[in-house]
Amino acid sequence: MPSKPKWSFSESCRRCPRLARYLERVRAEHPDYHARPVPPFGPQRARVLIVGLAPGKHGANRTGRPFTGDFAGILLYEMLHEFGFASRPVSVSASDGLRLVDCRITNAVKCLPPANRPQPIEIRRCNPYLAEEIGWLPPGAAILALGTVAHAAVLMALGVARREYPFGHGARHELPRRLALYDSYHCSRYNTQTKRLTPAMFRSVVAAIRTYLSCPKTLSASPAGPHGRKGGR
Ligand code: SF4
Repeated sequence: MPSKPKWSFSESCRRCPRLARYLERVRAEHPDYHARPVPPFGPQRARVLIVGLAPGKHGANRTGRPFTGDFAGILLYEMLHEFGFASRPVSVSASDGLRLVDCRITNAVKCLPPANRPQPIEIRRCNPYLAEEIGWLPPGAAILALGTVAHAAVLMALGVARREYPFGHGARHELPRRLALYDSYHCSRYNTQTKRLTPAMFRSVVAAIRTYLSCPKTLSASPAGPHGRKGGR
């Protein structure tokens, strides 16, 4: 069992002064927005944990649910539904009735960062919350990191060296506690509109996770799969 985490996530967290101040300004501009730390969504002991970067200003930061209400969630929820991880293909609001099945979604940083760019210290401060979530995963679970920041945050949460697990779109890594880490480019508007990440590329990663869950022993002993592409965001 993982050791007891030092912090448990709370929506009232203000450990990052810059982000707390920024959220105050956003709340003043948009009083109807969630504009607080965004909690993870989905069952705690799911066998798939999806890790994004941070809430989007008019998406998760508005609705209070990860990847809900903005462009980045379109491809994600569509694929989750296609592979049986979500009850609906479209995520509109926190009260739309959508359920995640054996799947949980979170972010490396739980608060909206200015310009969508968290500072390294903010990623570190928020990391115990991610470590807590990873600690709840059952052995054999899969983690899907969307982009390099999420990938690095997962490794930080597990206390393993980043150089041993280089990010690559489509790569998979064997982590401690029999966890499998899959990498994908982030399904952001920029990446999808520039075709850095196509629906076919993303489908292939989610399909690989579905296959892995049905037979986790198929995971290669090599640190990264043969089709991983280095680099990315
Ligand atoms: S980013 Fe994380 S650690 Fe920082 S204030 Fe938000 S919830 Fe707290």
